[in-house]
Amino acid sequence: MGCCVVLTPSPIEGSAKRRIVILGSTGSIGANCLDVISRFEDRLQPVGLSAHKQWQTLFEQALRFRPRWVTLTDPDAIREASADCLEGVCQLLTGDEGIAKMVTDPEVDLVVTAIVGAAGLTGTWLALEAGKTVAVANKETLVMAGPLVMDLAARRGAQVIPVDSEHSAIFQALRSGRSSEVARVVLTASGGPFRGRSAAGLEDVTIADALKHPTWRMGPKITVDSATLMNKALEIIEARWLFDLPPSQIDVVIHPQSIVHSLVEFIDGSVVGQLSPPDMKLPIQYALTWPQRRPSPAKKLDLTKTLRLDFEPPDEDRFPALRLGREVAAAGGTAGAVLNAANEAAVSSFLAGEMPFTEIVPACRAVLDSHSFSADPTLGELLKLDAWARQEIQRWILA
Ligand code: MG
Repeated sequence: MGCCVVLTPSPIEGSAKRRIVILGSTGSIGANCLDVISRFEDRLQPVGLSAHKQWQTLFEQALRFRPRWVTLTDPDAIREASADCLEGVCQLLTGDEGIAKMVTDPEVDLVVTAIVGAAGLTGTWLALEAGKTVAVANKETLVMAGPLVMDLAARRGAQVIPVDSEHSAIFQALRSGRSSEVARVVLTASGGPFRGRSAAGLEDVTIADALKHPTWRMGPKITVDSATLMNKALEIIEARWLFDLPPSQIDVVIHPQSIVHSLVEFIDGSVVGQLSPPDMKLPIQYALTWPQRRPSPAKKLDLTKTLRLDFEPPDEDRFPALRLGREVAAAGGTAGAVLNAANEAAVSSFLAGEMPFTEIVPACRAVLDSHSFSADPTLGELLKLDAWARQEIQRWILA
């Protein structure tokens, strides 16, 4: 199992600091990352930050954390940004070249990839190629190109550490046994805001409804993915490649409280899980300080009060995304890149008011079924299919 290769990013102990690049530092995960780092400034040092559009926030972060570099990638933001305030603070880099310079610098120990969507692939790829430890908060990268990414990591001796709360839980629980002793992993899902709704009730879902997650505060794309359960479908695919498990050993259970972040069942029937109140700072901190644990400010479980943990099987007829996730995890090849791109485009269309909520998953299914599958694609082929699938969603909207 890929996760069992122990190559730790140096250093966390001793006097030197672990030097960290955060790709996507202005998003929800990126901001949480900096919050965690601010509590461990004696051990963790952000040396590079990147943002796509939000240059003001990026520059504020630069003034606060004083990294060596910041990178802006959106051409309009690059034109618009007034970088005078960075004088004497850090170097402003731009575009993919800036990302490449930051993630491959010999003095960088760990790269956090927190860019949303397929855009996160380039940075992850370059960091792994340079042999860096990569904390992956961008599940789309593994969904799109899981086999290629994990193969690259293995060839370069680079460690991939999950930040996604479910995969962090599995990564932690797997330490209780050998990989040959794992019977299955069980991903927990809150069920999203529409868990109790009938199929008919889902017809009238508005953008505002879909953006109201019951337990987690996250960016808009992943919040909509949680409402369709596509997020869990993508997480099945992510687990398949990250832990090298066949889809038959990956299950999903609905757990509305979001306290049990996932479970590993071993062959003797023992089930080991990771529990904590829902707060991304915990899995982020574990990824940043791994393989060590440090005290965390995250809220602790209060077991002096009655704690209720419910588990129920998911309703795959109301939430057909799960079936799609399992199929794509089993198919591998080009299927992940097509599903991922179709979903990203469908979610943007929904958020733009161009597609009803209930069409997101059927549109993804239609695009997936109409693509010409290949079992062993190159990265270039995956990127071409990514663009193709996005166009197919546009055609679906116009049809
Ligand atoms: Mg998750």
